Amino acid sequence: MAETMQTQAHPRAQDVKIDMERLRQDVLDLSQVGRDPELGLNRRAFTEGDRQGRDWFRQRLAVAGLELFQDGAANLHGRLEYDGKRPAVVMGSHLDTVPGGGPLDGALGVLVGLEVLRTVKEAGIELRHPLEVIDFSDEEGRFGGMFGSQALAGQLTPERIQGARDLEGITLVDAMAAWGLDANGALGARRDPSTIHAFLELHIEQGPVLDRKRISIGVVEAITGLFKWEVRLKGQPNHAGTTPMDMRIDAFQGLAEFGGEVNRILEEHGGPNSRATIGRVELKPGAANTIPGEAIFSVEVRDTDERVLKALSDACRRTLSSIARRRDLMFEFDVLSEIRPTRCDPGLLDLIASEAETAGLEYLRMPSGAAHDTQSMSAVARTGMIFVPSIEGRSHSAGEWTNWEDIEAGANLMLRSVLALAAKH
Ligand SMILES: [Zn+2]
Repeated sequence: MAETMQTQAHPRAQDVKIDMERLRQDVLDLSQVGRDPELGLNRRAFTEGDRQGRDWFRQRLAVAGLELFQDGAANLHGRLEYDGKRPAVVMGSHLDTVPGGGPLDGALGVLVGLEVLRTVKEAGIELRHPLEVIDFSDEEGRFGGMFGSQALAGQLTPERIQGARDLEGITLVDAMAAWGLDANGALGARRDPSTIHAFLELHIEQGPVLDRKRISIGVVEAITGLFKWEVRLKGQPNHAGTTPMDMRIDAFQGLAEFGGEVNRILEEHGGPNSRATIGRVELKPGAANTIPGEAIFSVEVRDTDERVLKALSDACRRTLSSIARRRDLMFEFDVLSEIRPTRCDPGLLDLIASEAETAGLEYLRMPSGAAHDTQSMSAVARTGMIFVPSIEGRSHSAGEWTNWEDIEAGANLMLRSVLALAAKH
């Protein structure tokens, strides 16, 4: 009996496991919070669904006896304190969703963080560093995206906050004011880097690679950066019947030629992680019997290497302007967004990989093609990311799912990694 109590009071950190039944129940419960009869799961930032998700999370933190605070960007922080003077090992992701979103994108990372804090607290393990879990505001971009993590990273400006509005024209300032919050408070949410020992995020892959290879764990080496342009090629709208083929200035033909060049541009200037997409096209005037006078289209290019991204951007610009010149088209473009690629911390990568090996888990070092809060947090902390598989790569839809065994493997790997980072020597 005495020995049992001894074991419970001082469990060996490497033997501790998360409570899978509790985590499973949390995932299932939260997947019902913020459901909209028309849109499905809808916890877009600062909507009623988001409020319900946050209330649910606050209540789970309270039940677990964890400290809770909300910062100026409305990020929710749960803390397990040991010594207020030491920097924290921080985990974070987001509870907000896209309209009709899935149950795991963002939510799983927050729930795993919560479960890690609960497990450590219950096991009574004394750590050197405090633990923290963060639910970041508006990751999904109702008002532009990464609002909460950019606030912690000190990347927001008063102009960005004042200018942020959603597709219906509602401003961030008004949406937060409706909750009794001052959006400008986000400027004060910047986190002193000396308060963060390391930042880790667990997230679903949202792509098919791990699922196809039947590997439970991805260790993210780098997160892709991107540039997104709106391109306009202008020619001359004219009668489709009376204008001979050699007398046309057809904007669509310019777009079509560029579309055919995209793969060549990637082969010549890109790498294995390069992606290019023309996802939106509009022709004006847009009639079957009129030669298109204007082609307006998006060009979105991603890579994990900043130099490669620059080379791709130069090549796209050169190709578009030479096509326009040859075809007498006018060429303009606006840069809609530019995000720099982020490398995760090599030391944290190795730590996560070695904990995976110790736990007997197969893992794959891989890039992330989607953007995550980890990107902003890299400005104020060393960062590491763990992926778990997405079945058939599905995400941002009700079909988004991950096998329970993979969730359990990922959560226990997070626990081990956090313990290794936060333990007393
Ligand atoms: Zn996400």
